[in-house]
Amino acid sequence: MAKTYKAVEVTAPGNLRIVERPIPEPDKGQVLIRVEACGICHTDSLTVEGQFPGLSFPRVPGHEVAGRIEAVGSGASVWSAGQRVGVGFFGGYDGHCELCRRGDFINCKNLTVSGISVDGGYAEMMLADANAVVSLPDSLKAVDAGRFSARV
Ligand SMILES: [Zn+2]
Ligand SMILES: [Zn+2]
Repeated sequence: MAKTYKAVEVTAPGNLRIVERPIPEPDKGQVLIRVEACGICHTDSLTVEGQFPGLSFPRVPGHEVAGRIEAVGSGASVWSAGQRVGVGFFGGYDGHCELCRRGDFINCKNLTVSGISVDGGYAEMMLADANAVVSLPDSLKAVDAGRFSARV
């Protein structure tokens, strides 16, 4: 297996470049996804143009990801290698802030946002929190999954 993957990262507002990165091991609670398709959304321009508050560079945009689980970190065993999955704008929650303890995960004070606070899907590989990943049916093509998620 290749030891590197290609990613498109934003290095400064308006500046995109293709880079080769070492393939990471998923951390605790994470999965590594081999990206098959990623929708392009207008919201990505907040990353590309550096307009999202608190954004830091380099950052890989993209939050409409379809692919397959490549590797599973500890504590993420609800997923297994080879499963078809998607990741959206919601990139995960901390599980312990006041809002999370009320079950209001989407308003988590430490919400993770794919392609904004963590690297997204403009890449061949992507790390994602296991709790932000959704299952995709085999019958749904990766390109169509990205297109569908662009509407939500
Ligand atoms: Zn979007
Ligand atoms: Zn929280």
